[in-house]
Amino acid sequence: MQITPHVHCLWLEFEIKTPAGERIPRFVTSYILAGDTLTLIDTGVASTAPDIFGYIESIGRSPQEITHVLLTHSHFDHIGGNGLIAERAGPEFLGPEAERRMIEDLDYQHGVRPVGRMRDAVSGPVKLAGFIAEGDEISPGSVAVRVLHTPGHSAGSLSFFMPEEGALISGDVLPEPGTLPIYESVADTLASLEKLKTLERVKVLLSAMSRKVSRDEAVASHIESGQGYMREIDGLVQEVLSQKGDDVSPGEAAEFVFERLGLPRAGLIPIVLRSMKAHLDEGPI
Ligand SMILES: [Zn+2]
Repeated sequence: MQITPHVHCLWLEFEIKTPAGERIPRFVTSYILAGDTLTLIDTGVASTAPDIFGYIESIGRSPQEITHVLLTHSHFDHIGGNGLIAERAGPEFLGPEAERRMIEDLDYQHGVRPVGRMRDAVSGPVKLAGFIAEGDEISPGSVAVRVLHTPGHSAGSLSFFMPEEGALISGDVLPEPGTLPIYESVADTLASLEKLKTLERVKVLLSAMSRKVSRDEAVASHIESGQGYMREIDGLVQEVLSQKGDDVSPGEAAEFVFERLGLPRAGLIPIVLRSMKAHLDEGPI
């Protein structure tokens, strides 16, 4: 879907298979900056790479025109197409230095952040050609991009602002109310969201966690809904701590939060427990 003159957003469908053979439908988000050449922001999973190529052809361009790939962060559902895109177009991959090993070494990522059948969902790996960081102003394919460091969901998470389009791509840093709590730091998430909310000249917000396209006044309210959800989760974690004491386990905290938020117990997966552990270790905000 074309969002602004140069920014296209793709919501790509895929399925996760559970060990019991159940298929869970999910979506990943990828973006195309269509300038003199094509820049891809995040590459989805391996099975969605053909959809990216198909979309590019549907707008009259060619996948071979992809000269750059910008990665918001290292999680498998944002880098899973890397290998197939490298084979097809050979672009330069750029991402955050703090997540270099997670991007380049998929066995390492699977070891420290196990997510079901992640290895089936990723192609590659590829090496980063360079790093991008807070304040960088780049213009791949002649489309101006300002890089923002927005940690919280992960330590190296980046957001991208295209000033000429007024378009902000926030990666996974903006938690959507009702989704599973997946983050590494509550304080960093809240600070990053405040930074995005106060950014000037944002006309449209694209969050990888959502299929919403927020425009004008809806941008700030969308970010505020994420801040509110993060604070709500934090309030529940502080409540369970005050009830059960400091030795509450990540599993107990997660069960409490899930019950109070009405989240499905099937969502009590290792990466959620990892978030809860980080939250308990972080202490009061
Ligand atoms: Zn992520």
